[in-house]
Amino acid sequence: MGEQKTRAVVLGGSIAGLFAARVLADAYDDVLVVDRDTLVGVDSARRGCPQGKHINGLLARGQEAMEELYPGITEELFADGVPTGDLSGNVRWYFRGRPVVQQDAGLVCVAASRPMLERHIRERTEAFPNVSFAERHDILGLTVTPDKSRVTGVRVQRAGSDEEENITADLVVDATGRGSRTPLWLADLGYPEVEEERKKIGLGYVTQHYRLTRDPYGDDLSINPVASPELPRGAIFTKTDGNRVELTTYGILGDHPPTEQQELYDWLGTLATQDIRKALEHAEPLDAPVAFRFPTTLRRRYESMARFPDGLLVTGDAVCCFNPVYAQGMTVAALAALTMRDHLHTGAAPQPRQYFRDLARDAIDPPWDMTHVVDLGFAGVEGERTPFIRAQQLYLKMVQTATAKDGAVTASYMRAAGLVDRPESLMRPGLVLRVLWNLLRPHPRRATRAGSAPAPVRRGVTAR
Ligand SMILES: Cc1cc2nc3c(=O)[nH]c(=O)nc-3n(C[C@H](O)[C@H](O)[C@H](O)COP(=O)(O)OP(=O)(O)OC[C@H]3O[C@@H](n4cnc5c(N)ncnc54)[C@H](O)[C@@H]3O)c2cc1C
Repeated sequence: MGEQKTRAVVLGGSIAGLFAARVLADAYDDVLVVDRDTLVGVDSARRGCPQGKHINGLLARGQEAMEELYPGITEELFADGVPTGDLSGNVRWYFRGRPVVQQDAGLVCVAASRPMLERHIRERTEAFPNVSFAERHDILGLTVTPDKSRVTGVRVQRAGSDEEENITADLVVDATGRGSRTPLWLADLGYPEVEEERKKIGLGYVTQHYRLTRDPYGDDLSINPVASPELPRGAIFTKTDGNRVELTTYGILGDHPPTEQQELYDWLGTLATQDIRKALEHAEPLDAPVAFRFPTTLRRRYESMARFPDGLLVTGDAVCCFNPVYAQGMTVAALAALTMRDHLHTGAAPQPRQYFRDLARDAIDPPWDMTHVVDLGFAGVEGERTPFIRAQQLYLKMVQTATAKDGAVTASYMRAAGLVDRPESLMRPGLVLRVLWNLLRPHPRRATRAGSAPAPVRRGVTAR
């Protein structure tokens, strides 16, 4: 007599859904990923994932977690033409208008375009024999037990069909992104309202791809002037797959980059470095500039709920949408999958409230809290600036200022920003002393790479 097979259904087959499916494949007989888009074989930006047209950088901790989930995937991406380098040693960062001293920090950068990254993650997930995809299916709602204490499956509708179908499941994982309807579904079932936190940042992105005819990078992978309170505009200008260069430029609180070509070039001339604008004097645009608006961050506090149905978990942007300029979403989606894996490995059905508690503490709180402090450094961003937040802002400013003089500070800062080290690592006494010492000493003649002879200031670099 065979036992009945177990099934997990993942709602949404984007990055968070794929990472979740990967860990569920080890614990359930069948894993079904449902999405309204066509997924398999797709290697361009999808309708259901409009951010796929923009830079989606993977932080170093995300690369480590992805590699843990799919051993060998990083090399597979490199073999497919994805450039790499060290996030601290090969990226020309500009903090507060000044170029940092670059120093390797063991942070592997996977400079893949979003469609390329998603395709590789999807192909590795597809390769599990117990994972399958229900594409072009709209997710309509949940099915539950009569007492509504347990989710038993999901209602879906295939594109072009009038018929609703029920898919039964032992576990449903919602990975439908920011537009997730779990809060509405829970309310309909009589559960308490999900507490939501939003912060208005009024962010606007514009992205374009190019083929360069002159190399502005040298040994570097990317040129990234970061928005600061003094100049709340920034850009990421990176080599990517297909021998292309991907530019995403952004401004906050309504100060958005233009999409008209010449105006965009002019806007680039207002950034902390002229390197990007100059490089584009010798570039062939491969597409038209495309915009994206991101008015608010959003965090759903499932960990605070007193009641939550069994058989349901939520992951990825459906739980937390970070300010995208910090590139945290995909990394946190990978960390959420690792948290989920811990809860599956107990052998019993995962306890949602314990999962949400661990997810908040281990994966979401550190990046959320750290970037909240940074966001509130911009005068127009609303939020309470407690003395503790102001002290953190002051120290972060000191750290960022010291990166212009000392590669070791750059490396420590990038390890924390890359989520490899906890934010508290920036408070190590040795580093605090180093930061203070650098504030006191005069600015050395500019050295862009730690250990290299001081280089003359390069033409076009505004060291303000
Ligand atoms: C402009 C922008 C830039 C970003 N840049 C970065 C970055 O640099 N680095 C980084 O790590 N993160 C970045 N992010 C965040 C990152 O894109 C997400 O964190 C990541 O995609 C994980 O999201 P997700 O899988 O939870 O949801 P999504 O990617 O939003 O996917 C949700 C999926 O659910 C499907 N779906 C939704 N509703 C339904 C339904 N009713 N029926 C059927 N299917 C449905 C959609 O088709 C889609 O495939 C950025 C986000 C934005 C908006």
